[in-house]
Amino acid sequence: VLNTSNSGNSWSASQTGVEFRWYNVEGVLPGVDIPDEIYLICAHHDDISEDPLYNAPGADDNGSGTAAVLEAARILSDYQFHRTIKFVTFSGEEQGLIGSEAYASKAESLGHNIMGVVNLDMIGYLDDANHDLDVYCDLGSEWLADTILQFSSAYVPGLIPYKVVDPSFNRSDHASFWNEGYSALLHIERAGTNWNPYYHSTGDTVGTLDLPYVTEMVQLGLASMAELAEPYVVGVEERDIVRKEPMRLALVIARNPFSDKVAFRVAKPSHLSASLKIYDSAGRLLKEFNPIQSEKETVTWDGSTDKGSVVSSGVYFVKLQSGPQTISEKVVFVK
Ligand SMILES: [Zn+2]
Repeated sequence: VLNTSNSGNSWSASQTGVEFRWYNVEGVLPGVDIPDEIYLICAHHDDISEDPLYNAPGADDNGSGTAAVLEAARILSDYQFHRTIKFVTFSGEEQGLIGSEAYASKAESLGHNIMGVVNLDMIGYLDDANHDLDVYCDLGSEWLADTILQFSSAYVPGLIPYKVVDPSFNRSDHASFWNEGYSALLHIERAGTNWNPYYHSTGDTVGTLDLPYVTEMVQLGLASMAELAEPYVVGVEERDIVRKEPMRLALVIARNPFSDKVAFRVAKPSHLSASLKIYDSAGRLLKEFNPIQSEKETVTWDGSTDKGSVVSSGVYFVKLQSGPQTISEKVVFVK
């Protein structure tokens, strides 16, 4: 489907210290004109059971998520997108997220601009008639969860997603990306107290899964990647079902250097808020403006701090953040 490669990471088993070469698998669909902005759809492809060396079928945990990643790659590889989509399956999840930890830390050290990660783990077992799922996020990933809830109602109305903000929920590969400062989500069947009884057992077989539900979960992951990466269409007006405004964040500074007032003109995605903060050269936060809600807004700064004093002459840093995008600029204050 795509050119695949292992990501070159091997890892040691935490219990035995034995070095394994159990590879992660990665397919890359390069973005046409914004290739350095990357979205990731991922799942772990290993499993465990009471008889792990001989019989660990792992249909729900995590054949279901792995199938979703493969299906997304098969379908989306027929199309072009502005941004890069990576389709990744990890090894070593059951040994403590080892494959994803190696992958995420390497990506971070290489400076890869991973904008968002959707991790699919156990997306096939239903404990009742509701086609519901939990979307786990941390505070830095809430924007992504909010966005994907919109995609869910637009594309897969039969699904009932619940956003769960829980930075301590580190039981799957999304946590490896949280640890490296990336925005990441976990999509998982919503079990409540009725956890899949076949979990981590030889009974975790395809017959226990609800295949129409799996299909919807795959559709949500696939549609989310397509929307986030944005279809690249030549000669036809682009059609956006959910997002009508461009995702790009922009900051224009008027009257810089300034001695009286400086103006910050902000443009941002309509579905996200933005924060605007002023720091001194030592990195101390001096001024925080109210969150910006409208798509275009002009904010003025007169050099005053949140504590009521006025800054002295010098260089200050403006930081504008919205979702995964950050812009930092200098302003110079001259008394
Ligand atoms: Zn799992």
